[in-house]
Amino acid sequence: MPQHAIQRITILGATGSIGQSTLDVVGRHPDRFSVFALTAQRQDEKLLEQVLRFAPRFAVMVDAEAASRLQAALRAAGSRTEVLAGSAALEEVAAAADVDMVMAAIVGAAGLPPTLAAARAGKKILLANKEALVLSGQLFMDAVAESGSVLLPIDSEHNAVFQALPAGYGRQPGAAGVRKVLLTASGGPFRASPIEALRAVTPEQACAHPNWVMGRKISVDSATMMNKGLEVIEAHWLFGAPADLIEVVVHRQSVIHSMVEYVDGSVIAQLGNPDMRTPIAHAMAWPERIDAGVRALDLFEIARLDFERPDLQRFPCLALAFEALRTGGAAPATLNAANEEAVEAFLARRIGFTDIARVIEPCLERCAGFAVDSLDAVFAADAQARDWARAEIQTLSAG
Ligand code: NAD
Ligand code: MG
Repeated sequence: MPQHAIQRITILGATGSIGQSTLDVVGRHPDRFSVFALTAQRQDEKLLEQVLRFAPRFAVMVDAEAASRLQAALRAAGSRTEVLAGSAALEEVAAAADVDMVMAAIVGAAGLPPTLAAARAGKKILLANKEALVLSGQLFMDAVAESGSVLLPIDSEHNAVFQALPAGYGRQPGAAGVRKVLLTASGGPFRASPIEALRAVTPEQACAHPNWVMGRKISVDSATMMNKGLEVIEAHWLFGAPADLIEVVVHRQSVIHSMVEYVDGSVIAQLGNPDMRTPIAHAMAWPERIDAGVRALDLFEIARLDFERPDLQRFPCLALAFEALRTGGAAPATLNAANEEAVEAFLARRIGFTDIARVIEPCLERCAGFAVDSLDAVFAADAQARDWARAEIQTLSAG
């Protein structure tokens, strides 16, 4: 007999890198977890495999044609899973009464509506989709507080900080003797390459991360260090820390996933092999611990840990993110939207690697003074920034 009631999970973005790692953890603990819904944008073949293995009540495909293909294949296989189509269905399966927890692992701003729906419905939220929080920080945290939903970070750095903070920490640095949040960063594939060589970087090179296997968008973000910038903003909202109390430490081995510095001089770090199943399993079972399928850390094999300051000349996106956090208002939403457009244009080979920061910077300048006090205002800022960014991309790709 299992000692726990079985927790029912909805996985938003099930076919992605985080979604697959989540299902790996679910599959190791059938006595603890069952799958309520799996969602994907348009990869019906991958979702089909997952649905056949985990037999969820619902499968959602945003793309209508992919949904019909999935439906036909499931019917042929005798599956009882119900297929829903369209993005509104994401919100339904995130907020449904029978759901205990929601893994928010859609990439980009598209993940905000269903993640917010889960927050409003008071679900336990496992947050991988950092862009949602960057976009709507205050509104999202307010929704979590109002519904009493439990928000657990999946991003490895934030999960590490969460583990290094005292239990019951109330988003007030200083209150519990916390002095600083130290976010580690690998520095990505171009940490040490000659700066002049960055202009000619290809999408393949940018997506080949030295330590982590991830989706393409976050891989490019890691290469520009915009990922760390978004994570600084994410840390601000999750832990209530102002920009000045968040420091980025380049640590190329990706063994220390982040740290908290205390007033007495203590620094508490969380270490582990770079495998997202650790933070996923931690958040899924919290406050208990379960096997994640991750091999033990071998410190003798690692032998040394290195640290350096981030180079803001090389990584202007990191500086832009700090600037957006300090500016507030619509700046973080603008930063995120302009970055999403720029990364997509880079992956489509329309602009160069170093153009990504050149697209974002003028958008940030233009948004100064805009406020975002409602979800509509957030999406308006997002749409406005995408228009500005597309115009910048047009100019850069023509030049
Ligand atoms: P991915 O590209 O591998 O997967 C993205 C998933 O989202 C897929 O299932 C896809 O079908 C779905 N999706 C994409 N666009 C969508 C849309 N418009 N509407 C609905 N669904 C859509 O991405 P990933 O690497 O798994 O990252 C997911 C999120 O987790 C990102 O926000 C990323 O920043 C964050 N994250 C990832 C890692 C990692 O190691 N991969 C680590 C920390 C945080
Ligand atoms: Mg991270």
